[in-house]
Amino acid sequence: MFSRIDDYLDKLWDILYPKRCVRCASSGSWVCASCLASCVRVDSLTIGAVPNLTATYAVYAYTDTIRELVHEFKYRGVFSIGKWMAQQIAPLVPQDSYSVIVPVPMHRKRRRYRGYNQSEVIGRYLSNFTSIPMKGVLSRTRITSPQYMLNGEERWRNVQGAFVADMKLSGDLVLLVDDVLTTGATLSECAKVLLESGAKDVHGVVFARALLESSSADITR
Ligand SMILES: [Zn+2]
Repeated sequence: MFSRIDDYLDKLWDILYPKRCVRCASSGSWVCASCLASCVRVDSLTIGAVPNLTATYAVYAYTDTIRELVHEFKYRGVFSIGKWMAQQIAPLVPQDSYSVIVPVPMHRKRRRYRGYNQSEVIGRYLSNFTSIPMKGVLSRTRITSPQYMLNGEERWRNVQGAFVADMKLSGDLVLLVDDVLTTGATLSECAKVLLESGAKDVHGVVFARALLESSSADITR
């Protein structure tokens, strides 16, 4: 049922907002094959790089075209980009391992203003592709400054105490979803709250991550 409605909405959206490459504007997809070939694929599983998360998966490096794509998805409401991102993420995720997908929450006022939470859109499609249920376990207690406006240390302070769990977890292995990982401050703070609420373990998955110097610790898959 979901997929039929989803397909219908996809087709409708294609008519209203035809897919165009964010880099070269050729029609047919959000990133054409040749522009995608120039994007840095990390396909990585990073162990222990982000505090409170045992592992973090990422598909692409957060550079040029991928940055433009994320921007389009975040600020221009192009939902089918979220679907495409989830399609890229799904093969990295061991499907029988996780009990629940949890999206990084957006404050309700910001969500009302933007109309959607991009992490939730990715999470919903990822849930659909993997059959792992998604639950909105977390919410934001206050509006935080956008992380991109802050330096590394400020980012960690900015999100401290900004999340709360609305339900208890019991021994779940949680897959925490966000669109982009830069310092890891947001994912780390969310994971801390999930662990305090009963999660057994938290892994993170993002569509793109900034290339950090510590990337030499990556295990490339
Ligand atoms: Zn292109």
